[in-house]
Amino acid sequence: MSAIRSLCVYCGSKMGSDPAHAETAAKLGHLLGSNGVRLVYGGGAVGLMGVVADSVMAAGGEVLGVIPKGLFSTEVGHTGITELVEVRSMHERKQRMADEADAFLALPGGLGTLEELAEITTWAQLGIHAKPIGVLDLDGFWEPLLTFLDGAVEAGFLKPSNRELVVRITDVDDVLRALGERTTPTVPPLLGADET
Ligand code: AMP
Repeated sequence: MSAIRSLCVYCGSKMGSDPAHAETAAKLGHLLGSNGVRLVYGGGAVGLMGVVADSVMAAGGEVLGVIPKGLFSTEVGHTGITELVEVRSMHERKQRMADEADAFLALPGGLGTLEELAEITTWAQLGIHAKPIGVLDLDGFWEPLLTFLDGAVEAGFLKPSNRELVVRITDVDDVLRALGERTTPTVPPLLGADET
């Protein structure tokens, strides 16, 4: 089990219609802040992103935000966090977030969250990194995606071992244990057609 010192969180830039999502985000932020785990995230002050960041700060923790210059107006960039780094592009941002974190967790969100989760999992599939990846799924929000992945395995488009790259976590208090216990295998070089 490797201790997680820095967790990258992907989540909505909106609050979502169910207030339970913001409560979960706040609980996660408190967990990170009070356990000395640094939050790495997209740097926004809006939606669930803002809630997680604020809650880490309120618990005395450390937050690194990575935001592309000019892409988001400065008012949504979070100015109350430990460090807000401006980068030149979305690509650079996602690379920096990936480099700075020991593990990745997706909370509910929209296309941006889905894209970040899909990309970081694809990078694991390709052996670019071997860091744990999870989805926080308290209310079945991520179930359609997980069902899709199971379908992709059945249809022969996804190796069962790669399906296992995404860990479903159903309790906020379980996040650090579940990701810390996870040892993502270093995957053999790209896309061997015959391995299953
Ligand atoms: P979405 O799920 O579409 O709301 O997008 C949220 C994800 O995309 C976050 O994890 C961020 O990394 C990024 N993102 C989208 N909107 C913003 C914003 N206004 N400020 C900072 N990051 C954002």
